[in-house]
Amino acid sequence: MIQANDPKIRSWVEVPSDSDFPIQNLPFGVFRTPGLSPRICTAIGHYVADLQVLAEHGFFDDLGVPRHVFARPYLNDFIALGKDATRAVRNRIADILDDRLEDWDASELAGYFLHLRDEVQMLMPVKVGDYTDFYSSREHATNVGIMFRGKENALMPNWLHLPVGYHGRASSIVVSGTPVRRPKGQMQMEDGAPPVFGPSRLLDFELEMAFVIGRGSQLGTSVSTAEAEDYIFGMVLFNDWSARDIQRWEYVPLGPFLGKSFASTMSPWVVTLDALEPFRVEGPVQSPQPLPYLQCEGPKSFDIRLEVDIIPQSGKGKTVCQSNFRYLYWSMAQQLAHHTVNGCNLQIGDLMASGTISGPTPDSFGSMLELSWRGTKPIPMPDGSERKFLLDGDTVVMRGWSENDSGIRVGFGEAVGKILPSL
Ligand code: MN
Repeated sequence: MIQANDPKIRSWVEVPSDSDFPIQNLPFGVFRTPGLSPRICTAIGHYVADLQVLAEHGFFDDLGVPRHVFARPYLNDFIALGKDATRAVRNRIADILDDRLEDWDASELAGYFLHLRDEVQMLMPVKVGDYTDFYSSREHATNVGIMFRGKENALMPNWLHLPVGYHGRASSIVVSGTPVRRPKGQMQMEDGAPPVFGPSRLLDFELEMAFVIGRGSQLGTSVSTAEAEDYIFGMVLFNDWSARDIQRWEYVPLGPFLGKSFASTMSPWVVTLDALEPFRVEGPVQSPQPLPYLQCEGPKSFDIRLEVDIIPQSGKGKTVCQSNFRYLYWSMAQQLAHHTVNGCNLQIGDLMASGTISGPTPDSFGSMLELSWRGTKPIPMPDGSERKFLLDGDTVVMRGWSENDSGIRVGFGEAVGKILPSL
């Protein structure tokens, strides 16, 4: 068992029962304050714990982890130490924060390494190299297929045989809290009409999760489904903002482009696969059986509850979607095996997103496109307005957490973005 996951341990730092960040989570992120340069941290209750300060006091020296990796503006160098080292650091942090262990005497240092999360600025945790977006929710692909092609041809012939994906744009991935400017572009207002140019009218969110690559692979080699999770450092919440009108006009025949590349928002905390281990579950049964290189042994999904709120400028918002990561048809292991089956190499810091995570019921659909069924079923808001797609001033909040019988809740915090009007 991974020591930091022990459900019996408690921290001397107060952790409210509904916190995403008990001692059993210990995700990794990067923060700064007006007085402190960017550095690596973890979260505990309402606090961030500054790992650079703990490193400078020698808490990680005997683990063979160099102190300087904690004084970096990104997690990449830390992740590059490998899972044995990062797991040892996470276990050591659990020792330091554990209320039973007095060997470490870190509580005397609390004033030096703990900061209220509300008082620090969280930064992009990872320098993202390449970004890939999959399309792995059967419910989402089916809903979109019904809307655009009709019930008969809802799923394309390849969909049940491979995890469909495309190469996205890494430069416009931003950390939670960064405002998102409504994109402009070409759209066709009616079939056969000439295109017009202007601000997108059909701006949407996509409820997704993404995983961070924690180990590189060599060009020309492939990673099997059995090895795949060794290459995954951890997971984040991910909002793949989408301009449906731009997307619809441009996507033929090469797929998504400017309707997607204007912004994607990720949550600041990378939750390790180790922390998610207690919440491992089977994904949906796959039929037909995929080709051998996509077959897996054992459960490869995770029970992660997901929610999306829309908060209008008026401040009166509501939860519009409740879904779960476990609904995804294709697992991360299968996505990664497929991504590398042609010999494409992985690099530390690459990000792979799941695709919109829709569930089986209308309240679990992970985009406005589906929730409002292409604008035909507007969603009433508490302030009397209604939403078909997102309006300027709307804030979209995504949350995710796992919880089980032991009462331990391991959460991701939030991925938040507010829509600003086009310039
Ligand atoms: Mn997407």
